[in-house]
Amino acid sequence: MFGGAFDPPHAAHVALAQAALAELQLDQLRVIPTGQAWHKTRPLSPALHRLAMARLAFADLPKVMIDARETERAGPSYTVDTLRELQREQPGAELFLLLGADQARALPSWHAWQEIVQTAIICVADRGDGADKQPRFSAPKLLESRFRQLPMPALPVSATEIRNQIATRQALGPLVLEPVARYIEHHHLYQTA
Ligand code: ATP
Repeated sequence: MFGGAFDPPHAAHVALAQAALAELQLDQLRVIPTGQAWHKTRPLSPALHRLAMARLAFADLPKVMIDARETERAGPSYTVDTLRELQREQPGAELFLLLGADQARALPSWHAWQEIVQTAIICVADRGDGADKQPRFSAPKLLESRFRQLPMPALPVSATEIRNQIATRQALGPLVLEPVARYIEHHHLYQTA
């Protein structure tokens, strides 16, 4: 499971998915755009756009499925609810949760985080920014085996930076995916900061 706002999806999201496919022998990778992000303060773009951009961004990766369930669920999107559903749908499957280092650090603030760690192996990718040097969330000894580092090239890019570049009419950096950039332009997304 790879969750996120994907507002918009960018090259680091795709690189993280590629790293997971290469490293974890996944049968399937579910990219799951969040519905109501309880941990983000700004309102997200409509789910319709985020789903469409995710389909464009991940189109070339095998085994990736864009899963709309969190955008269809009422109330805040809790990862634990999604993992419970996946577990029910695929009994016996080994589940992995992909996270950037920032989200891994925030994990102890997530709803039912201990159940999350017991349900899925947590695979963490560095973001290639200064924050990677910050102390990591250190898992209690018993849970240490549930965490894995996901090797991937450091790509210091964020959706926030991309939205700001668009709102302030700056040139987009190389880590904005071409089909996603075209979609953004066509639908006039992120025009205001
Ligand atoms: P925003 O800037 O709006 O907060 P974001 O770029 O962090 O967005 P999200 O959609 O919130 O993107 O991220 C989804 C997942 O991808 C999170 O687990 C996040 O940590 C991870 N991620 C995002 N950018 C990177 C990056 N540059 N390198 C590694 N992981 C990343």
